[in-house]
Amino acid sequence: MKLSKAFWQTYKEAPSDAEVASHQLLMRAGFIHKTGAGIYSYLPMAVRTIKKIENIIREELDKIDAQELDMSFVTPADLWQESGRWETMGPEMLRVQDRKQNDFCLSPTNEESITDVFRKSISSYKQLPVSLYQIKAKFRDEIRPRFGLMRGKEFIMKDAYTFSMDKACLDEQYELYYKAYSKILERMGLEYIVVEADPGAMASGNAKTHEFQVIADSGEDVVVQAKATGYAANLEKAATVRPELKFTPESEIEEVITEEMPTCEQVAKHLDIPVHQTLKTLVYRAFYGQKKVIYMILMLGDDKLNEIKLKNFLKADKVEVAAEEDLKEFNLIKGYMSPYGVEGKISFLLDDSIDPKSSFVVGANKENYHLKGFTPSRDLGSFKTVDLRMASVGDLAPNSTETIEFRKGIEVGHIFQLGDKYTKSMKATVLNQNGKKEFPLMGCYGIGVTRTMAAAIEQHHDENGIIWPAAIAPFHVYLAVIGKKAETKQMAGEIYELLKEAGVETLYDDRGMGPGPMFKDADLLGLPVRIVLGERDFAESGELEIKIRKTGETFKVAKSELVEKTKQILTGLMSN
Ligand code: ATP
Ligand code: MG
Repeated sequence: MKLSKAFWQTYKEAPSDAEVASHQLLMRAGFIHKTGAGIYSYLPMAVRTIKKIENIIREELDKIDAQELDMSFVTPADLWQESGRWETMGPEMLRVQDRKQNDFCLSPTNEESITDVFRKSISSYKQLPVSLYQIKAKFRDEIRPRFGLMRGKEFIMKDAYTFSMDKACLDEQYELYYKAYSKILERMGLEYIVVEADPGAMASGNAKTHEFQVIADSGEDVVVQAKATGYAANLEKAATVRPELKFTPESEIEEVITEEMPTCEQVAKHLDIPVHQTLKTLVYRAFYGQKKVIYMILMLGDDKLNEIKLKNFLKADKVEVAAEEDLKEFNLIKGYMSPYGVEGKISFLLDDSIDPKSSFVVGANKENYHLKGFTPSRDLGSFKTVDLRMASVGDLAPNSTETIEFRKGIEVGHIFQLGDKYTKSMKATVLNQNGKKEFPLMGCYGIGVTRTMAAAIEQHHDENGIIWPAAIAPFHVYLAVIGKKAETKQMAGEIYELLKEAGVETLYDDRGMGPGPMFKDADLLGLPVRIVLGERDFAESGELEIKIRKTGETFKVAKSELVEKTKQILTGLMSN
């Protein structure tokens, strides 16, 4: 492409709402146009990168025998009513009506549509497994669309779905996608970690699910990793353990004055004990539809409750901190709440880092007092022990002595074992070997195409601009020419043709700009290789300069060797 004819423009400044590098650079380097909050048009440069990402995805999914289809973007409400998600999706789903007041939504995801396609086409176990995908726009009315393509309202997602007769087959399909996703991210040159994730509202709390997280400081997700052990989990899910703690043996209950010391830290400091020898008393309410159940939760004083673990354990629709009225019901005094004296009246959950046979300091349920010597196994009638804590600095990976690391990630892919949630609710059955109807098991698998494009920039940029991984760069080469003479321009034109013929995707800057602004644009755009034809140099030595954007290395090459050398460099860049 010759830049003099291209629809492309760069900008000195990023818009003031662009907080992260990818948003700023995508705007400055002329990739995207903001149409509205969280809604973008992809300009020609972006479309080239998007197509490359999509093609890598296609190639890898074709290898695992997944087939591409294309479902409607607008889906009728009936389908969502069948699965129950018309109610539960909430305001994230953008609903529209046609002229006859029929309800529809702009698809945020497509489990319902695919299940509908499936149930109308497949009837026997012999036709399974089925593995289908599409690459298409999605719409989610995010509360806070931000960071440009990272969290848009409209975005491109590859969504895939599998249907299997049994768990073993679902596991197999899941594994195929797991490997394909790894391959896709590797081919795109991205550093990533696969982490165990929380299934959220998609399926039951213990459904198998993994996220593919691209490592970047600007990532919104926190992931926990122990490299040697091979453990990695999303913070929401991480089941790490505390290193061995010293507790105190069982002792008599004793009241101590703790004036104006409502926190565990204050009490521990006052009594000169480690904070983990105190217990934090939390009261939560769990909702099951309209029904409300109150729980008292005990955590080591320096631990934090992970509400997602709590919600999953209780299999509740929602959990939240108890209200004043709940505390009143049990005569609990804020800041000094105690499990002592309420046993039998309330359900207790103990975080499993607590040794129930040791003694701890807890609230006395009396303003300005705490109790020493509280020993759960002795003082609580009944309780359940469960992992409820938020992973924290210094923790060890499960069943390991390796200390975990915390890293920031961008979730670009998510794979999920859904089970029969959708086939059951939408009555999608097939006949099994015995001629009986069964609900097949589903898996769903997403990759955010536009988010991946942004994540690649978050991971690969410098102060001058984008540094595209070669496999997804909009072009391979930025060919610049310095000089005014007609023969110089003609020579550049020839070189451009040579590169093009050799299959090197070349952007030829024939705009006649000075080297300063031209090189600035080249760095901002971030193509893997820049080739400069300098009029004087070329006249003297017959050489051109090749510069690798990623490393800054430069080479002088004779015209006759240029194409080969360029191809060789690109092959090297594609493979690492
Ligand atoms: P998040 O937790 O970031 O909101 P999600 O868990 O809701 O994402 P999924 O439903 O798992 O997302 O969607 C699959 C993939 O689609 C994600 O891994 C991500 O790459 C992409 N994606 C989801 N929401 C957005 C969005 N608002 N903008 C861009 N890409 C998105
Ligand atoms: Mg997700």
